[in-house]
Amino acid sequence: MVTRVQKINPDSFMAEELEEACKILKSGGLVAFPTETVYGLGGDAFNPLASSKIYKAKGRPSDNPLIVHIASMEDLYRVADGITDSGLKLAEKFWPGPLTIIFKKKEEVPLSTTGGLGTVAVRMPSHKVARELIRQSGVCIAAPSANKSGRPSPVRAEHVIEDLAGRIDMVIDGGGTGIGIESSIVDASGSEIVILRPGYITKDMLLGVVDKVTTDPAIESRIPGEGITAKAPGMKYRHYAPEGELLIVEGSQSAVAGRINTLVEEKEKEGYKTAVIATDETKNLYKCKIVKSIGSRKNEASIAAGLYDILREMDYLGAQYIYSESFDNDILGGAVMNRMIKAAAYHIVQA
Ligand code: AMP
Ligand code: MG
Repeated sequence: MVTRVQKINPDSFMAEELEEACKILKSGGLVAFPTETVYGLGGDAFNPLASSKIYKAKGRPSDNPLIVHIASMEDLYRVADGITDSGLKLAEKFWPGPLTIIFKKKEEVPLSTTGGLGTVAVRMPSHKVARELIRQSGVCIAAPSANKSGRPSPVRAEHVIEDLAGRIDMVIDGGGTGIGIESSIVDASGSEIVILRPGYITKDMLLGVVDKVTTDPAIESRIPGEGITAKAPGMKYRHYAPEGELLIVEGSQSAVAGRINTLVEEKEKEGYKTAVIATDETKNLYKCKIVKSIGSRKNEASIAAGLYDILREMDYLGAQYIYSESFDNDILGGAVMNRMIKAAAYHIVQA
């Protein structure tokens, strides 16, 4: 299969530019498209063959459900049933935007889209290309992130091409995504709102709309297993990982720099290629040939936006051992660290 690449300027494009993509979606094919979080790999959510193609293209375990992307509140009623008041309030406040909400699923939504679950994850993206693609095709688009399963999520069309060229029908290249980490996921199918995956929409933001919000204990866990099973099935897998071995070093700024410099020296002596993930403020503290800044500590959104780019860059550079600072001490930092810890396969040390 040849994967077509369709370039689109999100700030000014014509309906015709999405015609081919709409045709592909309506006939059960796969189109990767930009959203405000990461690139999604889309197929018709109501077509079980399309969703099974998504799993195959990504190499994704079949029990890991897809998020259904919609363009209007009418679409919500096509896919979800028993919509709770609290879930509806969150949808009204945060859609379109980077919040995924889980409801009971409509009978018609195939189990292959929901990984066998009786619930469905729904999101209305705010990205203009994503919304127009859903609206114009009339298709509710099931879409996980458009990367090979286990790899860092794609924040540019080039990342999608790297992972999925030859395996999907089309990539819409709308440039870089804005937020750079996946949507926050909340379960609104029960009596209480539960955060299943942290993201740009934080607990405090949710508490501005509903009275009670809890967090699935599995997402704060720093030890794999621990007897807790993540309620979002996707959160239990090793994820987002670069090819080299990533280690997160926590502690005071000077202790972290000291420890990382020692580790770099040791591994370089053994003949390995090492790299350091630092920030604009700290990058000068390291004695390593490759030191990359993920963003600025003064602007946590820049750290989220830099995360997947930097993890992929580590592969381009052929880094075998990667040492990273921790980004735990701010609001979005929780969402960044949640991904980092998985990328590091839970390898964290205290300096
Ligand atoms: P991705 O879009 O690749 O980030 O994957 C979608 C994420 O949503 C995965 O972590 C899934 O486990 C999660 N998810 C999708 N549907 C559900 C659901 N019905 N219940 C819980 N988690 C879900
Ligand atoms: Mg994913």
